[in-house]
Amino acid sequence: QTQELSQVRIDYQAALQDLLQDGTRMVCTGKIHTDRICRFESLCYSTEAEEFIFFHSNSSIMLPNLGPRRFQPALLDLSSVEDHNTQYFNFVELPAAALKFMPKPVFVPDVALILNRFNPDNLMHVFHDDLLPIFYTMQQFPDLDQEARLFFMEGFSEGPHFELYKLLSSKQPLLREQLKTLGRLLCFTKSYVGLSKITTWYQYGFVQPQGPKANILVSGNEIRQFAKFMTEKLNVSLEGTPAEEYIVVFSRTINRIILNEAELILALAQEFQMKTITVSIEDHTFSDIVRLISNASMLVSMHGAQLSMSLFLPRGATVVELFPYAINPEHYTPYKTLCTLPGMDLQYVAWQNTEKENTVAYPDRPWDQGGIGHLDKAEQDRILKSSEVPRHLCCRNPEWLFRIYQDTEVNIASLIQVVRQTVKTKPGPKRQAWTSSLYPGKVRGAKCQTSVQGASEAKLSVSWQIPWNLKYLKVREVKYEVWIQEQGENTYVPYTLSHQNHTFSDNIKPFTNYLVWIRCIFNKNLLGPFADVLLCST
Ligand code: UDP
Repeated sequence: QTQELSQVRIDYQAALQDLLQDGTRMVCTGKIHTDRICRFESLCYSTEAEEFIFFHSNSSIMLPNLGPRRFQPALLDLSSVEDHNTQYFNFVELPAAALKFMPKPVFVPDVALILNRFNPDNLMHVFHDDLLPIFYTMQQFPDLDQEARLFFMEGFSEGPHFELYKLLSSKQPLLREQLKTLGRLLCFTKSYVGLSKITTWYQYGFVQPQGPKANILVSGNEIRQFAKFMTEKLNVSLEGTPAEEYIVVFSRTINRIILNEAELILALAQEFQMKTITVSIEDHTFSDIVRLISNASMLVSMHGAQLSMSLFLPRGATVVELFPYAINPEHYTPYKTLCTLPGMDLQYVAWQNTEKENTVAYPDRPWDQGGIGHLDKAEQDRILKSSEVPRHLCCRNPEWLFRIYQDTEVNIASLIQVVRQTVKTKPGPKRQAWTSSLYPGKVRGAKCQTSVQGASEAKLSVSWQIPWNLKYLKVREVKYEVWIQEQGENTYVPYTLSHQNHTFSDNIKPFTNYLVWIRCIFNKNLLGPFADVLLCST
């Protein structure tokens, strides 16, 4: 099918003349390829060579100008997954004069965001690697507005969740294959290449076993704003609170099944005195699922990508993640990490099947569904006897696949017990004020006074004023931390104080220089910055 680009009319001759004269212009952010996003004018793409082209002219700009380091290993990551060697972006270079001998360029008038989706078949990857990063990359650059167009260069077809990608802008996203129908040489008038990684919280285990990213930079606030945007675009209205509280069991129907799901639903309904409903990706639309999850008090599900939809839960709700036999919940925490992001305000509970008689394994299935028939007999025996999958790298570890694709008969009593340990009363949604997580500013006007009492005794009085922002805040508890360090020493003595002044006499020596560091602490754990150090001489 032929793709329509835009109603926007451009003067073709003028555009061609500009390209010949000005060539390509590129200015990027980021010091290294893993945190780089580039903005281009007149970046071109040959659909025959499947290469991007940078045209040099007297007016072209290439910043950073890396020379051969552009290939070590690449200019940038085209997906949000860090430094994955199948996801690199680069371009080939040509003089603008070469255009005379090339196919006539087709100009793309829309502002383009050019990227790779990482794994559009898997809902966790869709949200974590694509939708959130696209949403926040668009927030970073004002001309990536609702009129921008997304270009997916990874080469996959639309995939099962394409409707979600379509919500991000008003224009139909285009796939690499579809570019061929537009022309042999495409030139993007204005484009951004690459994705922000600032919202990602999980690494999938390509270089070290999977786990939370080392330096998570996103909070529940940003996740929830994304969820709100998606909810609105899905036309789900969330007016008012629902008539009654309820539990959602998000079930899988193809594999990793809960074998006694009906019994589980009855038990949950009885234990928590709430209606309990099931949803699945197979039987419900995204609008339905989002509507149901957005008002749920508890979400119960097997480990799996469907749990990424926890991001639509209301604050205060509980997530119960079930793990098959021999799968250690601590080793697979994409959803735990999501639920426990600061400000996500979800309660998280993991339950693991520890009873071998309650698991049903499928050793004879194909390897990618957890079959182990392709392994030698000794290895098969070892796997069958093992009671825990050792930590491993992504993505084809046969023992991991074997165990993660087991079905489970859930031991209801043990499940209810672990949920009860976390959820003492009702699991219902409660609204928590975000103002309770604001940090103090620096203390102000810090001063010291000293006096010498004798040959070995001295006093050091320190006073200060409250942080400037405190007068506008309601804070449950305000404390101050004062560190006293003798100048030239590596150690210091910390004090926690409730008032804005204090006289120190223990361990204070006459005729000595002290450095005094002061900071404010709200509610025990919100540590503010230190004020400029005070130099106090006794
Ligand atoms: N999936 C599903 N029902 C099933 C099995 C899988 O909806 O019974 C979905 C799942 O949510 C994910 C995709 O199919 O989006 C791929 O599932 P897979 O088991 O490969 O990945 P995982 O869920 O373990 O991340």
